[in-house]
Amino acid sequence: MSSTIAKPCPSSLLPVKDSTTPFWRTQLHELDDHQSTPDLPSLCDILIIGGGYAGIAASYHLLAGEDSNLETSKPSVVLLEAREACSGATARNGGHLRPAVYAHLSSYIKEYGVEAASELAEFELSHVKAIADLVEKEKIECDFTLTKSFDVFTDNDMAEEIKEAYFELKAAGIAKTTMDDLVWTEGEDAEKVSGVKGCVGCFSFTAAHLWPYKLMMALLSRSVAHGLNLQTHTPVTGISRSSSGTWTAITPRGSITARQVIIATNGYVSARLPEYSGKIVPCRGICSRIVVPPFTQHPHIDKTYGLRFPGGSHDYLIPRSDGSLIVSGARSKFITDQSTWYNVVDDSSLIESASNYFDNYMQDHFLGWEENGAYVERIWTGIMGFNDDKIPSVGEVPGREGCFIAAGFEGHGMPVIWLVMRGVVSLLNGKRFEDVGIPRIYKTTKERLDSTTQVGQVSTTS
Ligand SMILES: Cc1cc2nc3c(=O)[nH]c(=O)nc-3n(C[C@H](O)[C@H](O)[C@H](O)COP(=O)(O)OP(=O)(O)OC[C@H]3O[C@@H](n4cnc5c(N)ncnc54)[C@H](O)[C@@H]3O)c2cc1C
Repeated sequence: MSSTIAKPCPSSLLPVKDSTTPFWRTQLHELDDHQSTPDLPSLCDILIIGGGYAGIAASYHLLAGEDSNLETSKPSVVLLEAREACSGATARNGGHLRPAVYAHLSSYIKEYGVEAASELAEFELSHVKAIADLVEKEKIECDFTLTKSFDVFTDNDMAEEIKEAYFELKAAGIAKTTMDDLVWTEGEDAEKVSGVKGCVGCFSFTAAHLWPYKLMMALLSRSVAHGLNLQTHTPVTGISRSSSGTWTAITPRGSITARQVIIATNGYVSARLPEYSGKIVPCRGICSRIVVPPFTQHPHIDKTYGLRFPGGSHDYLIPRSDGSLIVSGARSKFITDQSTWYNVVDDSSLIESASNYFDNYMQDHFLGWEENGAYVERIWTGIMGFNDDKIPSVGEVPGREGCFIAAGFEGHGMPVIWLVMRGVVSLLNGKRFEDVGIPRIYKTTKERLDSTTQVGQVSTTS
């Protein structure tokens, strides 16, 4: 077991070595350590920095996706990743593809208006089908499972508040597809329907779960087959723009110059783009895999869950076809001690105060699971990018022509990143932000960068 003492956030803000091993990285793909060429190319058309969901999705949309216009004008694309391919948050998450905007809809409406909030809700929901279609089209084996998710409330006041907001929005016809997908259950039925002890009300709605690393590596191998030059173990330590408008990235293996650059480094983004310091902050989360001994009796779980507790704490879990569960959250154990998670890039150690949180989790929370001996088989940490205004930052960086950012996806990137990156690729091709299908409030702007309003540090999680 790794040490539980967090290394302080280094000023260089690079991913650390010896990261904890998440369950998703226990079966490694042949491209995990891949370098397409022994030396870094000195030139390319498009440089992608960061090999997680955002960077890999960008490479796929550019080279292998429906919009890639392959045979005629194929750009040369290089992807630089500091560690192994898909070794950041994407391979450390809960595997939960769960559109859950409804819970924040009222506050989004207050902040951004009905239209922008509805757009966001429908955008997230559309990801479930988009990923289902992608997995089918590319025949990707990644345990993709389409299912329903329960959002469970154990506190009467919280349940009452969320229920009222839901019925108001539904009556007003706001975010209709999302609202029509939700089913509310309360009273005595709530515990029975959800299977969660103490549940006083719950929503169920469409969601999916999958093996994120396998999805990403399949997409990455499609990109490589279509010409992507992949360079793992190549951290970018600086970027600069020349007077001719090109971008040069510095790495320990030499430098590379590109016409356009996409910075997809998630929580680490402010190291290369200092204007995002304090705007997108690296924050550590914790996740576990719970295994049930064979031949034990307990109610079968085939839905995913969000468990919302009083005080804003929120856990979430997915069941796997091998009978195990991936459970994440535990914020109530560490949220008050910022030094353990806020502005922390160390995923080589656990969050000490939360390292026992998942012990007996299923026994404590699920009806009929008391005696089955479910135990934590593995626990790991990962680094998210949290935003001061809770909204991801996407688009051309203000004042940096040709440099695009896609970062700050918090604990909720899976129902967002795929179509965001499709939009980013259209931006690279000269389209306007307003025309590429990315929710308008994600646009990175000077106003957002200049704003001093802090929305708070409890951000979106799946
Ligand atoms: C514990 C945990 C649980 C989560 N659970 C869920 C969930 O169930 N559902 C959900 O929707 N979301 C979840 N998330 C969030 C989700 O995983 C992220 O939003 C998403 O993976 C972000 O993808 P990304 O590509 O932006 O970042 P990453 O996957 O972190 O990729 C960024 C990459 O950039 C690389 N990099 C950084 N700096 C440099 C540099 N200077 N040079 C080169 N490379 C660099 C990193 O090594 C990393 O590989 C969870 C996150 C965590 C940590």
